[in-house]
Amino acid sequence: MIISSQVCHKVLSNPYKLKYHMRVHSDRREFKCSVCGTGFKGRGNLSRHMINFHPAGKGTEEDSKKDSEEHLQKMDQETE
Ligand SMILES: [Zn+2]
Ligand SMILES: [Zn+2]
Repeated sequence: MIISSQVCHKVLSNPYKLKYHMRVHSDRREFKCSVCGTGFKGRGNLSRHMINFHPAGKGTEEDSKKDSEEHLQKMDQETE
């Protein structure tokens, strides 16, 4: 079974990745994290992300597991 985006036909490895990938098409994200590339709709969202994900200005390896969903989505965006 092949799972792919109905919008851009990108092939995803599992339904969960597709679910998060589809947000790319539904959201307009103008603010991008300079560390991990995750996009946000508002400057406030980005600011909060920076505090939660990169409190010491480190890379994505410091991300906590509870936020892994957001970074799965990030990976989809970067492999376009
Ligand atoms: Zn797509
Ligand atoms: Zn980030």
